Amino acid sequence: MGGRLVVVESPAKARTIGRFLGSRYVVRASLGHIRDLPEDDFGVETDNGFKPKYVLIPAKRKVVRALAAAAKNADTVYIATDMDREGEAIAWHIKEVLGLSDEVCRRVVFSEITPQAIKRAFASPSQIDMRKVLAQQARRILDRIVGYKLSPLLWERFSPGLSAGRVQSVALRLVAEREKQIREFRPRRFWTITVEVEAANTRFEMDVVDGNEKRRFWNRKKAEDVARLLEASLAEVVEWKAWKQEQRPFPPHITSTLQQEMASLHRMSPQETMRHAQALYEGVDVGERGRRGVITYHRTDSVRVAGVAVRAVRKLIPALFGEEYLPQKSRRFKVSRYAQAAHEAIRPTMVDLTPDEAGRFLSKQQALLYEAVWRRFVASQMADALYDVTEATARCGDVELYALRRCIVFDGFLRVYGRALPSHDTLLPQLNTGEKLRVLSVRIDEHQTQPPSRYTEATLVRKLEQEGIGRPSTYATIIHTLYRRRYVVKRGGRLYPTELGEHVARLLVERFPRVMDVGFTRWVEGELDRIEEGEKEWRGLLEEFWAAFSREVEEARERLSQNRRLCPQCGKPLVLKKKGSGVFWGCSGYPSCRYRESAAPQPQPTNLKCQKCGSPMVIRYGRYGPFLACSAFPKCRNTQSLNHLNEQEETSDGDCDG
Ligand SMILES: [Zn+2]
Ligand SMILES: [Zn+2]
Repeated sequence: MGGRLVVVESPAKARTIGRFLGSRYVVRASLGHIRDLPEDDFGVETDNGFKPKYVLIPAKRKVVRALAAAAKNADTVYIATDMDREGEAIAWHIKEVLGLSDEVCRRVVFSEITPQAIKRAFASPSQIDMRKVLAQQARRILDRIVGYKLSPLLWERFSPGLSAGRVQSVALRLVAEREKQIREFRPRRFWTITVEVEAANTRFEMDVVDGNEKRRFWNRKKAEDVARLLEASLAEVVEWKAWKQEQRPFPPHITSTLQQEMASLHRMSPQETMRHAQALYEGVDVGERGRRGVITYHRTDSVRVAGVAVRAVRKLIPALFGEEYLPQKSRRFKVSRYAQAAHEAIRPTMVDLTPDEAGRFLSKQQALLYEAVWRRFVASQMADALYDVTEATARCGDVELYALRRCIVFDGFLRVYGRALPSHDTLLPQLNTGEKLRVLSVRIDEHQTQPPSRYTEATLVRKLEQEGIGRPSTYATIIHTLYRRRYVVKRGGRLYPTELGEHVARLLVERFPRVMDVGFTRWVEGELDRIEEGEKEWRGLLEEFWAAFSREVEEARERLSQNRRLCPQCGKPLVLKKKGSGVFWGCSGYPSCRYRESAAPQPQPTNLKCQKCGSPMVIRYGRYGPFLACSAFPKCRNTQSLNHLNEQEETSDGDCDG
């Protein structure tokens, strides 16, 4: 008797915390959730206040028995699961299943696993936050409703076995719509004009500005007319300016930015990133420092930083880089409106543990992740980078000329992290208003508008975040689910919808415009946040959702039974059948009727040429997903992986010209 039991999710976390707490505490792991909605049953009483039916997860029976036995010998049970909704829900299920009273059960919360933080958390334990639990429960029930009621409607059109999740379906829609934009894209030609001018024995280039259109001439004749006018003429300086420009560092990493950076720099999937971050958060052995969590909690959308961490990094910066790299005042970053207040940014827990030192104790992947977290955090408290900028405007008749030159004078935080602004070797010479510039030469360049880029894992996470339809705990799962269901494949770092994925997306958008609407999904996510803040009752959200959703399901059911495609051979309805990640129309009278026809999207043109016959290569769809094939098929049967298709990096999200 008199024992103290601590329950966490994972054995690694149990090991780290166990060392800090000493022998008076017994630390056990629940191995994640122990109770959930049933797997073989809907499990939600929609006409009885959405009462969920929870069952023990069969694989966890042994764990639960062991926890119950340990709890029997304990006066106090501390539940130290992760600090987000999911962790709070796990804590509540443990309390319920073990039948713990409020007196016995204590909730401890911390954002880092270090001796000080754990000591502090255990010194002031609290109760389980039911608002978080109910927000998680509401999400679980919403997802269950959509998965259970929507998937069967897919089966009326598709062969059984397909499923549609709530947020994943919207993410699939984004990927499929981007593919459609690319397919429908027609490039447009445009022209730019650059002139070389001379003033005071200095030569430099200026761009011809055509109204506001990004210096683009959409008409070749007009560009040539302007060029002719400029040749061997004089331009007059309208304005010359010089100033200093500051570049500020980014705030420290949050889940979405960390996933984006690891995906774009190291091609690490969001799922892998979360796995390595989890390990660094839960604790690793770092030499003489012992075993501890080396980064703060990795599921967060807040850029807040604890004061003690700011003081530590402000001590480190001058020691590593010199006084001039430390700004006079510490920086505070604006916390986004979706961010959860109690959370912190992802930062190193011991900032003096440099990436070099940490690298000796970590796996290669973990070391890359630690370095990303460390650099971005240290940079976030360093001095601005500084640039000298000169800018000139000149006129020649009606034609406006413009030039900007930027030179870096102090690297500041760029020494540790980030990319400098576009810079030049030299500034513009000083010019006076009214000064004449001699035009030495004129150059016309032809360009083409580019189709929008396919999403990468990094840009899809950014899009989900911008649209407010994912949360730190869900980005990785959303993307992984799209792969697992074979709706999306990754080729050469880019995300392609499969034939199956495109059909599912089209059907869902057609039949369930509301559930598939980005704005509606964002609204639901916002309402879940409000439940967590205690501003909304969870049943209220479920009722509103259910009213909209069940009406849509009814309408979809009717429409599905009305306009079906019929088999030209026997008159029975045609259904879409799945073959790998490919799709074809087959007769529902199979096997007595064997009619089938292709359901593949039209092949898409690319810029690549066939290495065997020189014909253009196109994107085709097959059971293993999209691939490159020769357009001369069946004469030439050359195929290639889509990894050969290199798209240019996206400059701005969804920049769709033409
Ligand atoms: Zn038939
Ligand atoms: Zn060929």
